[in-house]
Amino acid sequence: MDIIHLLPDSVANQIAAGEVIQRPASCLKELVENSLDAGATRIQVIVRDAGRTLLQVIDDGIGMSEMDARLAFERHATSKIREAQDLFSLRTMGFRGEALASICAVAQVEMTTRRAQDETGTLIEIHGSDVVRQEPCSCPVGTNIKVSNLFFNVPVRRKFLKTDQTELRNLLTEFYHIVLVYPKVAFTFVHNDEILLELPVGTEKQRIEAVFGNPKRNVYTSAFVEVHTETEMVAIRGFVIKPENATRKAEQYFFVNGRYMRHPYFQKAVMTAYSGMLTSDYQPSFFIYFDIDPEAIDVNIHPTKTEIKFADEQTIFQILMASVREALGKFSLAPTIDFDTQGNIDIPLPTDQPVNRPQVVADPTYNPFRTRGTIYPDLAPANWESLYEGIQNEPINPITPSIPSIPNNEDLPMWQYGAKYILVPSGQGLLLIHQHRAHAAVLYAQFMEQLAQTQGASQQLLFPEILNLSQDEMVLIGQLLDDLRTIGFELEQLSPDSYSIQGVPAQLANQSPIPVLQHILTQVRERGANTRQEWREQIAWTLAQNTAIPTGRVLTEPEMRDLVARLIALPQYRRTSDGKTIVSLLSDDELAKRF
Ligand code: ADP
Ligand code: MG
Repeated sequence: MDIIHLLPDSVANQIAAGEVIQRPASCLKELVENSLDAGATRIQVIVRDAGRTLLQVIDDGIGMSEMDARLAFERHATSKIREAQDLFSLRTMGFRGEALASICAVAQVEMTTRRAQDETGTLIEIHGSDVVRQEPCSCPVGTNIKVSNLFFNVPVRRKFLKTDQTELRNLLTEFYHIVLVYPKVAFTFVHNDEILLELPVGTEKQRIEAVFGNPKRNVYTSAFVEVHTETEMVAIRGFVIKPENATRKAEQYFFVNGRYMRHPYFQKAVMTAYSGMLTSDYQPSFFIYFDIDPEAIDVNIHPTKTEIKFADEQTIFQILMASVREALGKFSLAPTIDFDTQGNIDIPLPTDQPVNRPQVVADPTYNPFRTRGTIYPDLAPANWESLYEGIQNEPINPITPSIPSIPNNEDLPMWQYGAKYILVPSGQGLLLIHQHRAHAAVLYAQFMEQLAQTQGASQQLLFPEILNLSQDEMVLIGQLLDDLRTIGFELEQLSPDSYSIQGVPAQLANQSPIPVLQHILTQVRERGANTRQEWREQIAWTLAQNTAIPTGRVLTEPEMRDLVARLIALPQYRRTSDGKTIVSLLSDDELAKRF
């Protein structure tokens, strides 16, 4: 029996329209979700050149009949819903019946598929919506779909793709969203012939470990405690990190009925449960799975289906917060470290502890338009003495001695260590400068200056990006709009719950603006910023964090010199605005003691 039928237009219109395939990652998501909907137990993903050249998904699902293989590529062809009514009781991932139609319109697709009851399978080849071949073939049960040369007939789209590294990261992010909810399905992910992930069937916990459990990401399931609550309204289970294992960059995942979701309001519930247990910019990692009656959620408010509206969000907020709190409390994890005896180790501080911000003074010689390749090539001759004077006046910490001045010497040697620190010799020892924090501090001052007086340089986006927001975020962004525009974001409200981003601050040029704007909103909310000045500080701080040269970047000597000169031109440069050490001294005395 053929199982695919066409959706009536009335139903199609009830389904929020949206561009389905924006990049390789969205294509991968649709293909893998189809395999899952087809009941696959083993799914292989094969990618070449971050999906530009090839995206292949092989499954052992139910396969398709000859007729279905052809129909599957028609718009609104789906085997998953027949009436609008069905939308409310959805249990499958896809339902619009437009993914394959969209994919085959912008790529060269070759698919082989066979159902268990059929002796022969079907091969179908479609190039830009034209069927170029359909014939019987012999193939295993299941579906093997190869999407080659994505956007081959839409050159602008193709050009718009980011670097392979970024697109691969996007592919993996989509992949994580899926594999974390299907631990009973085995997955592999191969990129350019290298197996990046091999995920055997297991429990949720084993799956999290298999995906993230490596020393680099610092996410081990042993670092987590389990959350488990069942009420009439909702069942919540999952894992939340012990506060002492929190890091700056967290893995935060919510899932509802087997689907990844973004939910800033529930994220706030988790953050609230941690309040008092983390330093201000430490984030808790969590993997939280909700099970709820599908009638109590609306999966369809957002075209990419990651925003989900719950019928009674306030109650669930309370339940979630209480269950996370209980899980953390059970293990009595409140910090008990005696701050006075621990030197300058990074100790989680309560979030409500006031953070001393440096007073920001703008550098009037800085001209953001005059960049010539290095970080700050337009630099005026640096006042190197100030580096030492500054530190001399203010000892780095009570334990380290103050630093004597050393000759003003522009030829001072500098080295980079571990692609993370810049080492500069001084009269009494070695200065260690944290490159990322140094650059962030410099940028912070610049952004604050721009916010106070000038218009930031904006770069037009070739394709506007859409920022979808929840209601509270819409309110928040309204308050920040003037400052966001001053700093270079060109934002226009598109609908009651979205903005289009047409331009971004020049410094952001090759980064996706959406996560950055989201980060700004989260930051403003979590720091409880509610004056104009505080909003500006959060905008400047977030942009600085996101655009500063990262740890891991190898710097040339002129770049190091420029950065250090910029840094020492700041009135305060020993610490970042959130109190992290930027410059530290390894004194000659300390060195001598080691020998
Ligand atoms: P949707 O998933 O929204 O129904 P798609 O365009 O993604 O729409 O797929 C259209 C139809 O093709 C699906 O409803 C399903 O019947 C069939 N199909 C797609 N991929 C597979 C697969 N991997 N295995 C079996 N059937 C598939
Ligand atoms: Mg689908």
